[in-house]
Amino acid sequence: METITVRIRQDAERFTPQEEEALQWAGRVIKNGGLAAFPTETVYGLGGDALDRESSRKIYQAKGRPQDNPLIVHICRFEDLEKIVSRVPEEAVRIAEAFWPGPLTMILEKSERVPSETTGGLKTVAVRFPSHKAAQKIIEYAGGFVAAPSANTSGKPSPTLAKYVAEDLEGRIDMIVDGGQVGIGLESTIVDLTVSPPQILRPGYITKEMLGRVLGHVDTDAGSLGADSGQAPRAPGMKYRHYAPLGELVIVEGEADSAADYINRQTAADHMAGEKTGVIGSREYLDRYHADVIKCAGSREDEAGIAHSLYRILREFDDEGVTRIYSESFVCSGFGQAIMNRLLKAAGHRVVKL
Ligand code: AMP
Ligand code: MG
Repeated sequence: METITVRIRQDAERFTPQEEEALQWAGRVIKNGGLAAFPTETVYGLGGDALDRESSRKIYQAKGRPQDNPLIVHICRFEDLEKIVSRVPEEAVRIAEAFWPGPLTMILEKSERVPSETTGGLKTVAVRFPSHKAAQKIIEYAGGFVAAPSANTSGKPSPTLAKYVAEDLEGRIDMIVDGGQVGIGLESTIVDLTVSPPQILRPGYITKEMLGRVLGHVDTDAGSLGADSGQAPRAPGMKYRHYAPLGELVIVEGEADSAADYINRQTAADHMAGEKTGVIGSREYLDRYHADVIKCAGSREDEAGIAHSLYRILREFDDEGVTRIYSESFVCSGFGQAIMNRLLKAAGHRVVKL
């Protein structure tokens, strides 16, 4: 299959006639049962018609995604929510008012209209209303309900640039809408509203504190946080190794000087053993490290910046053939929790505590 790529300006709020045509084209591809990747404010999504079981099958196939890992249905109007869920609880209205359109996904009981292929056999459905204007237009042109998991090969870091979508999916999907670099760089927060109190199944830009202010008490699924919990995560997708670079990644936790000493000893030994070594460090500590490739994740003070660059850095290590990667550990509160959640999964939970 030939994959057609069209370009639109990054983060455009209004579109030129050519861009409008491109978005319409992508919407039509999805409406006709094809797959089109497009930017959202979180990461690039791979869109297919969420109400068509054959389209959902195609998504799993293109990504090599396990069939029990359900898809998020993207909508472009709040009113459309009631068409795909059996009931809209009052909590859903409140968090939609606070955070939609935006990087928040809610889990609700599904209606008959959503095929079980889309929800990986579950009776619940994940729904998000993205704020990205081009994504909204594509969803509208596609008929209003677009299943759009991250547009990467299953297991790899989610794409933050169209070229990473092409690397993974060229020849396997109909179209890529290239809208430049995405804004947030990590996937949406997922909150399950079918349990009481509501539970965060995947941390993201919308933090537990932000949700708590609107909903009162909110729990975090213990299984989503780490291997130590001994509990299976409740979002099926969170159980798989994910976001992973090809090289082996280890997170080093400890005071800055001893962490740098440890990392430098390891990279020296690895280098001698013929490995190509890499380090992910913060701007504050970057000059302490020695390795073949050193990548700056940004300032420790700037979580948004770290989130923004994390997946790109992991992919660049692949491109540069790095086989052993060491990363600093970052703060684990607020939005930092989402960063550490992805980093831990990318590392397969290999953490050295000094
Ligand atoms: P992605 O779209 O690639 O960011 O992945 C979607 C994530 O949402 C995966 O971790 C899924 O397991 C999770 N998810 C989707 N639908 C549901 C659902 N009904 N219940 C729990 N988790 C879900
Ligand atoms: Mg994904």
